Amino acid sequence: MDLTALVSQAERDCLPLFAGLEETEMKNTRRVLDAFQAEDIATRHFAPTTGYGYDDIGRDALERVFARLFGCDAAIVRPSVACGTAALSLCLFGLLLPGDHLLSATGSPYDTMETVIGLSGSAPGNLKEMGVSYSQVEMCENQTKIDVQGVLNALRSETKVVLIQRSRGYAWRASLRPEEMAEVIQAVHAARPDVFIMVDNCYGEFICEKEPTHFGADVCVGSLIKNPGGGLAPTGAYLAGTNRAIVRIEARLTAPGLGREVGSYAASYQPFYQGLFMAPHTVTQALKTSILAARIFELLGMKTTPAFDAPRADIIQAIEMGTPERLVAFVQGIQAASPIDGSAVPEPWDMPGYTDQVIMAAGTFVAGASIELSADAPMRAPFTVYLQGGLTYAHGKLALLSSLEKMRKNGSLA
Ligand SMILES: *Cc1c(COP(=O)(O)O)cnc(C)c1O
Repeated sequence: MDLTALVSQAERDCLPLFAGLEETEMKNTRRVLDAFQAEDIATRHFAPTTGYGYDDIGRDALERVFARLFGCDAAIVRPSVACGTAALSLCLFGLLLPGDHLLSATGSPYDTMETVIGLSGSAPGNLKEMGVSYSQVEMCENQTKIDVQGVLNALRSETKVVLIQRSRGYAWRASLRPEEMAEVIQAVHAARPDVFIMVDNCYGEFICEKEPTHFGADVCVGSLIKNPGGGLAPTGAYLAGTNRAIVRIEARLTAPGLGREVGSYAASYQPFYQGLFMAPHTVTQALKTSILAARIFELLGMKTTPAFDAPRADIIQAIEMGTPERLVAFVQGIQAASPIDGSAVPEPWDMPGYTDQVIMAAGTFVAGASIELSADAPMRAPFTVYLQGGLTYAHGKLALLSSLEKMRKNGSLA
């Protein structure tokens, strides 16, 4: 089989889908542009600050742009919030008090959140230690839908936050589009207007034309080295929400009484603005790469989720490689086609906190940025690899070809 011909065949099958993605990119670019213009963004907003950061206009305007984009009262957008987990933790500690109950509407949360909540390990300062109880409702209909009645039944008088995780993360469940959250958001708010609905929006920004806050979620949280940083933001995270939510969260960001008024950044804000401007385009490049990958491996007879032509709610593509040899060759092929650390050869290793060995490819400009092309997998049957990101579709396509060549070389391609 000619591998280039295989990729071309897969690409032909994907072209009608790409047209739909470009339409969404156009609408989201319009939304970003409108937000920049409404806030009259100018070169002066790039200027760094030091010390307390009082009157940091770059920080304040960036937060207003995010608030507009998410249809919210306010936002926190900070390089000082280290990552997505830090922002999610900040949100939970802002909204929850001792004695309160946290309810997950989408089953088990992302790995790192288990530690924050106190479900796994005993990290000092977790929610459990602070006296916050937790329970979860599993998704229904073969893990594709939120069990709305189940969530309503699980509400307790002390429930303060309902958590919805948009992305599958690394679980074999469906990711959720914002409109698929509308029913549970309305039902919970109707039953309990005092409850905050918080969405872990990681990997989901700019996939659709609206975000969960447009459907009534109280707060959306995500990482800037994923979708909304557009591949340019060097670090940080955001939270966008209602005033009622943000005034509590900003007290934990800095201190009660200080909130968002302080916080300097000694480098330029320019990459945050430019990254946000690029984000609808970058996300489209990553989606095209995911869809092409799905189609290539479907043509080779492998199982994928989502299927190449299924609606998408995040940038992650899962592919069952079936054998360890194929999985390792795939990941090594992605690394070999990376602009950074392309000569590194990933091997399975014992990663702290994981039961199986893990193998990962990440040859990125921003360390650990998963809006850049990256792949990772636990070494266990059915040897599923999770692929995400890609700053340009051309690079994604070259990297997939590189993976196919590695597979051919180690004899794992039929
Ligand atoms: C990436 C991610 C997080 C947070 O991860 P960080 O690595 O801390 O940025 C949380 N939830 C989901 C679903 C994610 O994809």
